[in-house]
Amino acid sequence: MSTSTMAPPQRPNIKTALPGPKGQEIIAADAQFVTPSYPRPAFKLVAERAQGVWVEDVDGNVFLDCNAGVAVCSTGHCHPEVVRAIQEQAEQLIHMCGTDYYYRHMPALAKKLDEIVPVPSPTKTHFANSGTEAVETALKLAMHATGREKFIAFFNSFHGRTLGSLSLTSSRSAQRLGFKRAVLDVTHVPYPNEFRNPFAEADCGDGGAAQGALNWIEERLFKTTTPAEEVAAIVVEAVQGEGGYVPAPKTFLKGLRRICDQHGILLIVDEVQSGMGRTGKMFASEHYDVQADIVCIAKGIGSGLPIGACVARANLMDWKPGAHASTFGGNPVCIAAALKTIELLQGGLVQNSAEVGAYLKSGLERLQKKYECIGDVRGLGMMIGVEFVTDRDSNKAAPELRDRVEMACFERGLIILGAGANTIRWSPPLILTKENVDVALEIFDEAIAASI
Ligand code: PLP
Repeated sequence: MSTSTMAPPQRPNIKTALPGPKGQEIIAADAQFVTPSYPRPAFKLVAERAQGVWVEDVDGNVFLDCNAGVAVCSTGHCHPEVVRAIQEQAEQLIHMCGTDYYYRHMPALAKKLDEIVPVPSPTKTHFANSGTEAVETALKLAMHATGREKFIAFFNSFHGRTLGSLSLTSSRSAQRLGFKRAVLDVTHVPYPNEFRNPFAEADCGDGGAAQGALNWIEERLFKTTTPAEEVAAIVVEAVQGEGGYVPAPKTFLKGLRRICDQHGILLIVDEVQSGMGRTGKMFASEHYDVQADIVCIAKGIGSGLPIGACVARANLMDWKPGAHASTFGGNPVCIAAALKTIELLQGGLVQNSAEVGAYLKSGLERLQKKYECIGDVRGLGMMIGVEFVTDRDSNKAAPELRDRVEMACFERGLIILGAGANTIRWSPPLILTKENVDVALEIFDEAIAASI
């Protein structure tokens, strides 16, 4: 594992108590000098190096990674072609500042995004360094392009932690506690979670949770607190990520598109977590056959390098120099990684995400039949949520059990991470093989058996 020439391990290898002695030293130093605001889970992984789907910690323990640095390392850790692209670019030009100068990388990636992002072409792209910045760009652009100030977002959504995007984010109170007020005028609507339909039957008619949410917007918000003509944009995740890996119902995004078209509202789809092949298509919106006005991208696009993008219809991005910019956004090294990542995704990894993701999902469904505590298995491609409940009659959330399973997996060398209150997310590198899945499922099975 220590060098890239070694054959990749077939199974995790845990040799020390976790964390090991070197890991403990680093955790102690971190506690002394690093902000305690990071929402780290109960298990403590201190990574030293990684290759493909394998991560080695500072004490030499080897883990099978089914989280990919929170859905970022789409091509696997340190994909040799991505590493080479980064190295070659770093030797040529590391930084120039695209806000003031030109370089070929920016139009090259923006052109590529025009081809692949589900926004009607022609598009234009603003480059950022993270997901939250891509969302900030979308919010500013929507206000600028419509001259309106209100937004509609969804409960349990996650769009970032800077003040604008935080006004949308609503997956946990800890993200807002202490910050007193939202800076933007955002109204939240329950997300149409089909496993836990938040709407009254009468509000859903024959259309299920999707219809409930659409009616909520049209019949309640527009007629009471939120006049449609004052709404700049509806911001939505096609698959809620941090909120618990919850895909939108089939008809929901089309319904939002219709509402937006009817009222001159922009549809912003946040594909920061669900984009770049994660769901078995390049973008999750493609499963819903919907084109947004603005799409936000980050995480998986750079295989680990910090890059975000806000892609919009070209006629919306009609703002003047100075309206929005970023010193580092669209840095040449990050773009080199992104272009190589897209090449690899188009060259087979999106397909692998669909195929191996379906294999993983069917294995998890088998475990659902075996264990009464698995209430729901849902998702698309390699974006799969497993929701833990006390029993399937009540479907009462079982957050402590979820945490125990997460820890038991870690102790056995499988990295998976929670999302929402009681769900485990599977967001492996898109290079995951069926053999890897077999190992992961065996460990998951053992971990559940040891935790109930
Ligand atoms: N939007 C979504 C859907 C996300 O999942 C995230 C991060 O998890 C963000 C935005 C924010 O991204 P970042 O942490 O890069 O700011």
